[in-house]
Amino acid sequence: MRKNIVAGNWKMHGSKADASALIQTLKTGAAELDAIEIAIFPPFVHIPLTQYLLKDAAIAWGGQNLYLGSKGAFTGEVSGPMLVDYGCRYVLVGHSERRQLFHESLALVAEKFKAAIAANLQPILCIGETQAEREQEQTESVLTQQLESVCAAVSVADFQKAVIAYEPVWAIGTGLTATPEQAQAAHAFIRQLIAKQEVNLAKSMRILYGGSVKADNASGLFAMPDIDGALVGGASLDANSFLAICQASSASVQSVRVKN
Ligand code: PEP
Repeated sequence: MRKNIVAGNWKMHGSKADASALIQTLKTGAAELDAIEIAIFPPFVHIPLTQYLLKDAAIAWGGQNLYLGSKGAFTGEVSGPMLVDYGCRYVLVGHSERRQLFHESLALVAEKFKAAIAANLQPILCIGETQAEREQEQTESVLTQQLESVCAAVSVADFQKAVIAYEPVWAIGTGLTATPEQAQAAHAFIRQLIAKQEVNLAKSMRILYGGSVKADNASGLFAMPDIDGALVGGASLDANSFLAICQASSASVQSVRVKN
């Protein structure tokens, strides 16, 4: 059975004091949520503090980005091995803000995915269509292109180490959420694409939904069979909201167990 993940992408938010307070509250609240995995993605500068505060906690952490290779003359960049050195398990790759604001191409995203695997990090590969692409009925072709450009660059064994996040760009930070049915349709499509690489890989791949997930819409999304958790932006900055989403994910796992 796939273990749900709820991941919090803090983006460029939070002072040291904010980060510390948020982590302490999450640590206490997460202690009873062992049916799911919880991960946070603080800005790079807060990662050493995160490692220190989460030492014995059941919360993983990761980088919001990485650059290629392990070291070099790349001012402003951080490598995969540097993230691993600070205890990161995950790294986000291909977030729509990186693709749009920092012009990350399909080829660069694939290279970053490979760099994450080479460093022993688990990439969370973010894919999703814009509003215009959805309106032009290009959702499936965009998802195919974004997924297949990475699959073509790595082996099935390496792809197995990844997590996918379906994040419709029109739902990120906008307050618009895909309905559970819209999200389920996209997730099922993504799983079908992965099945073309390997049927078992498709069965085991965790596919998270991201895009204005909040405490009040999480349960509906988590009830869908192909949604294995969430990548949460805005609501992850508030400990109670984020924990409520984690609780909704945990409850969805318990209800599946009861049904079985
Ligand atoms: C994100 O940044 O990946 C995200 C989904 O943000 P939000 O939850 O704020 O829409």
